[in-house]
Amino acid sequence: RPIIVWFRQDLRLADNPALHHAVESGRPLLPVYVLDDVTPGTWRAGGATRWWLHHSLTHLSAALERLGSPLLLLRGPGDAVIGDLAARVDAAEVVWNRCYEPFAIERDSRLKAALKGTVKVTSHKAALLNEPWEVLTGQGTPYKVFTPYWRACVAVTNPERPLPAPDRLSPCPNRPEGDALSDWALLPTRPDWAGGFRRTWAEGLGVGEAAATARLTQFLSEGAANYSAGRDVPGIDGTSRLSPHLHFGEISPRQVWHAAKRAGDRGSEAFKAQMDSFLREIGWREFCHSLLYHFPTLPERPLSPAFEAFPWTQDDKALAAWQRGQTGYPIVDAGMRQLWVTGWMHNRVRMIVGSLLVKHLLLPWQAGEDWFWDTLVDADLANNAAGWQWIGGCGADAAPYFRVFNPVLQGQKFDPDGRYVRHWVPELKHMPDKYIHAPWTAPPMVLRGAGVTLGRDYPAPIIDHALGRQRALDAFATIRGST
Ligand code: FAD
Repeated sequence: RPIIVWFRQDLRLADNPALHHAVESGRPLLPVYVLDDVTPGTWRAGGATRWWLHHSLTHLSAALERLGSPLLLLRGPGDAVIGDLAARVDAAEVVWNRCYEPFAIERDSRLKAALKGTVKVTSHKAALLNEPWEVLTGQGTPYKVFTPYWRACVAVTNPERPLPAPDRLSPCPNRPEGDALSDWALLPTRPDWAGGFRRTWAEGLGVGEAAATARLTQFLSEGAANYSAGRDVPGIDGTSRLSPHLHFGEISPRQVWHAAKRAGDRGSEAFKAQMDSFLREIGWREFCHSLLYHFPTLPERPLSPAFEAFPWTQDDKALAAWQRGQTGYPIVDAGMRQLWVTGWMHNRVRMIVGSLLVKHLLLPWQAGEDWFWDTLVDADLANNAAGWQWIGGCGADAAPYFRVFNPVLQGQKFDPDGRYVRHWVPELKHMPDKYIHAPWTAPPMVLRGAGVTLGRDYPAPIIDHALGRQRALDAFATIRGST
């Protein structure tokens, strides 16, 4: 009787505990991926992650095929589909790596209950270094502040060495017919908005397990030495860009941890410190997942209940200007266009664009969260929800609401030579450094020299910073007593 390996957010062969378990069982192996647009409800995969999924599954299928046990593709509610499949092939066991989205936890519990007594079910830790229930305060409650959380993690984190990829798989003889990947139409056709995705990822940095491993190696040998300072500069390649790979599980946090530690041990004290700073970001990922596990309404409702009464506005025109990168604040527009073209945005800029949306424009953080969900190739329920609540001032360990980023100063500080803005907002290419982050302050002669007419080639700011800041503070004052 075969063992079913249910691939989900673990699209890799190496360091895959579920797959390893299946191989060790000695049973014929049936690897399956289920496209489930039912269970997640409103959190069904967005356009950008569907694009990534197509390519990632292409790589995984090819790799499994080479090992002798091709990937079966099925569609529908995950628990029902796997339950039926187990009955159809008379499976002895179903094995998977755990997910932490509330709907995924419910789905997996349903399936476990349905299979109880007939088919063995085994689940493994593969997406996190520590399970959310393994790192708790002395009182047994979840951490809501990152620094003590990470301190506690570092004290207990001692991941075993990553597992090797199998070199052969024994196929399931009564493998049923599944879908072809093309049946799922995960790629856009008309309009085809994915040209920039292809250039950046498919033909550039790469998608899939091999690309993830290569990217990690390259980052550790080239980008990591200046990580703590470089990670804030969007105009340089200063971060790992592993986020979509980690989201889809093309690489495991355990592989990242060991590789970074090894590199740190071989390097100088200064390099080791850079590695610790990089692993701290992996720690943020763990923290976000722990928050989602312990506070399952994180994607929809503010962690701080006072924010339920926050007087958000609705302004479709302002939202559209923000989405299209037409706010008149160059660093914001550069970020939103980078997102649209490549499906990824630099972390510093995610914070700046988020702040403009929820503070200057007073639009609800959920509107930003939804847009990111559809447009990011790394869209991840835990990281995205926690990131937006952090920006909104209503989440765990959040920036206080009254701290309002000044988008001009942020631009001048983190993109001092305007390299990032010039790349993504080419209409400002010829603006001198002095005015690149605030073109409306440039004298008419300078604007003329740069070939820019404000309001024609590039918009005037959507709202004056001082005015926007005051409006945000006034709105906050209405709920302040209850925060
Ligand atoms: P690196 O700096 O190289 O970091 C390494 C890894 O650590 C990342 O790949 C990521 O997995 C993790 N990481 C880094 N920063 C954070 C963080 N602040 N929170 C959680 N994990 C982090 N990240 C996502 O993966 N998916 C999202 O949907 C997402 N939405 C976000 C929304 C907002 C409003 C904000 C402010 C941040 C969001 N982030 C999200 C976090 C962060 O911006 C990205 O993980 C990071 O920019 C990815 O680039 P990198 O891989 O080069 O990061």
